Amino acid sequence: MMRFAFLGSGSEGNSLLIEAADGTTVTRVLLDCGFGIRETARRLERLGVAPDQLDAVLVTHEHGDHVGSAYAFAARHKLPVHTSHGTWLATSHMRGADAADVRVCCADHAFEIGGLQIRPYTVPHDAREPLQFVLSDGDAVLGVLTDAGMETPYVTARLAGVHALVLECNHDREMLRNSAYPYSLKRRIGGDFGHLANEVAASILSQVAHTQLTRVVAAHLSRQNNTRELAAGALAAVLGATLDDILIADQDEGLNWQRVRG
Ligand SMILES: [Zn+2]
Ligand SMILES: [Zn+2]
Repeated sequence: MMRFAFLGSGSEGNSLLIEAADGTTVTRVLLDCGFGIRETARRLERLGVAPDQLDAVLVTHEHGDHVGSAYAFAARHKLPVHTSHGTWLATSHMRGADAADVRVCCADHAFEIGGLQIRPYTVPHDAREPLQFVLSDGDAVLGVLTDAGMETPYVTARLAGVHALVLECNHDREMLRNSAYPYSLKRRIGGDFGHLANEVAASILSQVAHTQLTRVVAAHLSRQNNTRELAAGALAAVLGATLDDILIADQDEGLNWQRVRG
């Protein structure tokens, strides 16, 4: 059985917990560690998990809301950090003498951690070598996509067939256009290497939706340039579902445990 939960999601910190249980063997990985060491432990505890019950930390890219305390947290709890070579280079200033055990992974080369099969794929985003991930216990498949500026055929192909999907709904285009953000920041966020607008997330969802896709989570919502209703509404419209059918990964509250399949 595979399930997932969010410690939190948004520009102030992202962290997703994924668990695969097969009999007595349980594998748990943290996907991004965008909160401080103590805050990460506190949020894990909220989900009933202690740091020493984790098996690894995955880091998508070097932006602070994702890498956060990943190296220090991993070093303290003796966990390996899996990330791309580019992210590893871009975060060299963060690794001290107590550097964590870093394992380099790259797009389209699947690897295993315990009972989890992990397939990284790359995305258009303004980072050195950003990865996003598809994870499976051999039965259920979870697709994760945040921090991407646009939809590409490669990205939608990687997400085909997932049973649960975490999908960035960063901003509403109209709200971003009318916001008080400086022009350069608006252009960065709304650009091809920025973040997914609700309507682009909806377009991606329309291409990967199938009858076995039973959990859809809107993630990485901007506090300033989006609302839960706009994000959930855009995704619900694609599925012919109601707003309540779309889960939201909240910045403060995260998201409680969800089964990937069934
Ligand atoms: Zn981010
Ligand atoms: Zn980013």
